[in-house]
Amino acid sequence: MPQRVICHGCNHILYEGKDLKPPDEIISQNGGKCPKCDRKLSLMPIDVEVKPLYKR
Ligand SMILES: [Zn+2]
Repeated sequence: MPQRVICHGCNHILYEGKDLKPPDEIISQNGGKCPKCDRKLSLMPIDVEVKPLYKR
């Protein structure tokens, strides 16, 4: 099951792959911000394709 992490600011795909990665690892790999829109990333803008984690 692929994992896809999308920036909610610009819908840029930050990570897409078969391996599940912890969100904080993906965030730190991007320097803590979206490379496209420069939006600061937090653990909130994380979507897993099969199971959306969108709760507040
Ligand atoms: Zn972005």
